[in-house]
Amino acid sequence: MIREEDIQKAAEYIRGGRLVAFPTETVYGLGANALDSIAVARIFELKQRPSFDPLIVHIASVDEIYSLISSNDERILKLAEKFWPGPLTIVLPKSTRIPDIVTSGLPTVGIRIPHHPIALALIKQAQVPIAAPSANRFGKVSPTTAQHVRKHLPGVDFILDGGKTQVGIESTIIKLNDKGFDILRNGVITREEIEKVVPYAPETRDSKTIIASGMMLSHYSPDKPIFILSDKLKLEKEKAGLISYTGKHTEGYKKVIRVSQNGDLLEYAANLFAAIHQLEESDVEFIVAEPVAEVGIGMAIMDRLKKAAYRYQKEQQENN
Ligand code: AMP
Ligand code: MG
Repeated sequence: MIREEDIQKAAEYIRGGRLVAFPTETVYGLGANALDSIAVARIFELKQRPSFDPLIVHIASVDEIYSLISSNDERILKLAEKFWPGPLTIVLPKSTRIPDIVTSGLPTVGIRIPHHPIALALIKQAQVPIAAPSANRFGKVSPTTAQHVRKHLPGVDFILDGGKTQVGIESTIIKLNDKGFDILRNGVITREEIEKVVPYAPETRDSKTIIASGMMLSHYSPDKPIFILSDKLKLEKEKAGLISYTGKHTEGYKKVIRVSQNGDLLEYAANLFAAIHQLEESDVEFIVAEPVAEVGIGMAIMDRLKKAAYRYQKEQQENN
């Protein structure tokens, strides 16, 4: 249970330029005062995050956004009304109040209002916007419990333990353009839902510019090899841990983790990273995850799985 004193202490830490890990509805964040570039630099240092990967700024109410951005686009309010607080990050032209280190020098900043009482209480008490990436070492699987944070980032100044996070995968990130929105990272808020508010208008991108970690080929990568289950995959089941969605064909594996009891994709998303963490710590040699159709929330799940498996599947293809 989180006590009022814990929130107060965490808020003082944030104001004092220190780092606090806190739960959001998506994953645990590693937070610092977004207006303090030295504090933000400590996030990059602790996570070993490359400076080209910008951070998301978390606020507690929509009116706080206007001093942080240089836009009064009325679509922001429409999106905020529908999706905030919630797992949607909107990338917007930044104001000069946001230090360049937060945005990795980009002229835009990603902002969201998280839907978690502890996160909201912390931001309100700290009275500053909080820049926070996921509270894991760069490139690794995001934490969905305080224990995961402790394991990955023992150097963090303070952790607010709010139990297991609900959504389990990172926020959907969109960028507004003249015609509508583009998706920079898939999440549980789907393109179809957002399209009801603003038209979908993908931008052509130079494939070499990475402007969101969601765009990297390899990310969310566990310490043990992970593969996406397929007919082509030749594997020694007795050494593998299976992340099972349907509960079918589970026989022969060393361990099986059912991520959903009744075929619910939201449940798969919520339990995916915890299942990976659990198998990383177990005695299996590698991890196999059951794929789902790439539609709706399935897009976000497959995005995480493909990036997690990328380097291992590539090695396997090269060896064959
Ligand atoms: P993390 O919280 O570690 O999942 O990372 C936050 C994600 O938000 C990263 O993929 C960032 O690249 C992305 N992001 C933050 N700000 C921006 C921005 N201004 N433009 C594009 N992506 C952003
Ligand atoms: Mg991350």
